[in-house]
Amino acid sequence: MKTKRHPKTTNNKSADRVSESEGMHYEGNCIRPPPEAFSILLQVTLGCSHNKCTFCGTYKDKRFTIKDERIILGDILFASKHMRNQDRLFLMDGDALIIPQNRLLWILDKIHDHLPWVKGVGSYANTKSISRKSAEDLNALRTKGLDRIYLGVETGDDEIREKIHKGFTARFCAEMGQKIKSAGMHLTVMVLLGIAGVNKSLDHAKATGGLLSAMDPDHVAALTVIPVPGTPFWDQLERGDLELPDERGMLLEMREMLRHTKLRGGTFASNHSSNYLSLKVRLPEGKQEALDLIDAALGGRIGLKPEWMRAF
Ligand code: SF4
Repeated sequence: MKTKRHPKTTNNKSADRVSESEGMHYEGNCIRPPPEAFSILLQVTLGCSHNKCTFCGTYKDKRFTIKDERIILGDILFASKHMRNQDRLFLMDGDALIIPQNRLLWILDKIHDHLPWVKGVGSYANTKSISRKSAEDLNALRTKGLDRIYLGVETGDDEIREKIHKGFTARFCAEMGQKIKSAGMHLTVMVLLGIAGVNKSLDHAKATGGLLSAMDPDHVAALTVIPVPGTPFWDQLERGDLELPDERGMLLEMREMLRHTKLRGGTFASNHSSNYLSLKVRLPEGKQEALDLIDAALGGRIGLKPEWMRAF
């Protein structure tokens, strides 16, 4: 996306005198979760505060920064004139929850003041950013409209978590997920098929099912890893230090993960463009249906997505 030049950091008071941007200000590679396709996309940070996961190349071109309030407010004012039909808003980039509490509350207040038709706000988060918010902080954010969190946990296997530089243990990650749910926010958790390679595939599946059961999110999005050139994960594969499961291996891994996933009520989906088999079921009641679907694919009775159609 196109980059525009704007003035440097200011304080909230002078930001209040800002006028509408000429267009939304986006810098570098910008992504959002598929359910936010129709949301207003407001870029409030650049990059990800962690930016160390070995498989992730999304924000390698950006140094983590919180954007200037005047830029953010200018974009909100632009959206107030030109995005009146979009009733949800997503805060980009990778980790908006890391923004200090008062600043984040200020952003949510401005969204409320200028975009009153927006019914809810979503954001990516990671374990670190959740850990920095108290239960009271999260409740205050929820009250101001932040009602949807997307958390990439990738795996519940601590050995793999360490290898991919995910940071924190699965147990701590589960606690952070529970914290989000206790604040009344909708929690989507992303897990990554194939990330452990062939040898640890089923261990990863089982441990991830355990982590998901402990978190009990509203929605699980299972994605399939697609190696990105220039990342340490890509280099590992190139050197032959790691081997990815093939399509069948990915299906067996998802089957094992699902078998060990016990949600009290939520959805499990593999309908992301990176997956070989698309499914979406409600748990617990849809588990057998999903297992049967995977078995049908393993038995060749359902076709898989061709490699060229997969994308991350
Ligand atoms: S926390 Fe997410 S955005 Fe940040 S490096 Fe890891 S996968 Fe990428």
